[in-house]
Amino acid sequence: SKKHKVTVVGSGNWGSTISKIVAESTREHPELFEEQVQMWVYEEDVEYKGTTQKLTSVINEHHENIKYLPDIKLPTNLVANPSLLDAVKDSSILVFNLPHQFIRRICEQLKGNIVPFARGISCIKGVNVSDEGVALFSEWIGEGLGIYCGALSGANIASEIAAEKYSATTIAYDPPPMDSSRNPSRNATPRSQTPNRAPQKNTADQLSVTPLADLHHKDARGRRSKTKLTPVPPEYPPLDHITFKTLFYRPYFHVSMVSDVAGTSLGGALKNIIAVAAGFVEGRGWGNNAKAEVMRIGLLEMVQFGQQFFGETVQEKTFTVESAGVADLITSCQGGRNFRCAKLAVERGVSVQEVEAAELNGQKLQGTSTAAEVNSFLKMRGLEQEYPLFTAVHDILEGRKQVDDIPSLVAADH
Ligand code: NAD
Ligand code: 13P
Repeated sequence: SKKHKVTVVGSGNWGSTISKIVAESTREHPELFEEQVQMWVYEEDVEYKGTTQKLTSVINEHHENIKYLPDIKLPTNLVANPSLLDAVKDSSILVFNLPHQFIRRICEQLKGNIVPFARGISCIKGVNVSDEGVALFSEWIGEGLGIYCGALSGANIASEIAAEKYSATTIAYDPPPMDSSRNPSRNATPRSQTPNRAPQKNTADQLSVTPLADLHHKDARGRRSKTKLTPVPPEYPPLDHITFKTLFYRPYFHVSMVSDVAGTSLGGALKNIIAVAAGFVEGRGWGNNAKAEVMRIGLLEMVQFGQQFFGETVQEKTFTVESAGVADLITSCQGGRNFRCAKLAVERGVSVQEVEAAELNGQKLQGTSTAAEVNSFLKMRGLEQEYPLFTAVHDILEGRKQVDDIPSLVAADH
């Protein structure tokens, strides 16, 4: 039987951390995965011990991403590759992990150049807003590449996980029955269970009973997807909950598998706007009560947004119970980059973008662009007033409103 080859597309702060996790798991599970993991790196020159070198060369020789994840040893079976198409060659598991503004160009290059039966997981926090509306990156990647793509999101500040400090995440994966019909019980893993390390065999005839109609799947709004999926060949382990849980689970990184892709993705995207608000009020010196209040209002707007635009499939409990919801909101408003940069911006009296450029050494904020994208989507529908916190954050970032205006802007009776 064959094994899955894994590629991580992206190598920033979180991209490198997830690559470390995945490479540790492939080494532990030779029955499922090829040991070597490819990590696509957006190539750049870096200074290393007084000389200018390619980032990929430094990663491959010293097993450290000195620019985006310094002081963390990466597994030796993780290979940094500057060629996108070479990195994804023969890979049946594609993990997308890069700032959301870069994914469009990457998908254009990948189209038609990936394994047809590949499955994806998007670790990207953001939403894709276009004239047609708002789309999840998992959905957008899946439609664009003709594959199924789930989402991984949670209270996951990368530096803590890279240092192997205990944390948890949510993986939303809800492929059409064709992937799990070979062994339906594999998709019903209890939340707290560690992965089943001895996956069961699949047979070709189990696969052949899948009705053709099931080769389509439902999108996050419950509509039949336009994508006609290619089945995973029976000689490979199934690409289902157990396989993905096994790939991402570490003793220090616990995984909860769910089917609510919309809720999981929206939690990760929208909390970044709220983290900017939390940074604003903290920078203003208003203390814990103010921060708790913007988190509370933000959580309500998050749930409202999910129900209003993805109501067919989104589950409120994803926001209130899962790591991808309330836990990510809490950690991001305590110590995330969006929070920290917004706080410094208020303290220094400069823009958040200026702090981002000065302090993050090339890492990217997602909250500022997500605030603008969500605002343009709401504005087009005349719904700005129904999301006062999201709107206030955007208006403050644009210089139209002040942090001091927040209390009156979000007041329930305004
Ligand atoms: P990052 O903020 O470290 O961004 C830098 C990355 O962007 C580098 O790999 C750089 O090479 C790449 N890049 C720069 N210009 C590029 C270009 N033109 N084309 C392609 N790539 C380019 O990235 P990250 O922290 O890995 O974040 C990736 C996603 O994961 C984001 O959506 C983020 O919100 C999410 N996330 C981040 C964290 C975290 O703690 N860092 C945690 C959870 C989720
Ligand atoms: P920041 O991008 O604000 O650091 O958030 C990281 C994150 O998503 C934590 O879960």
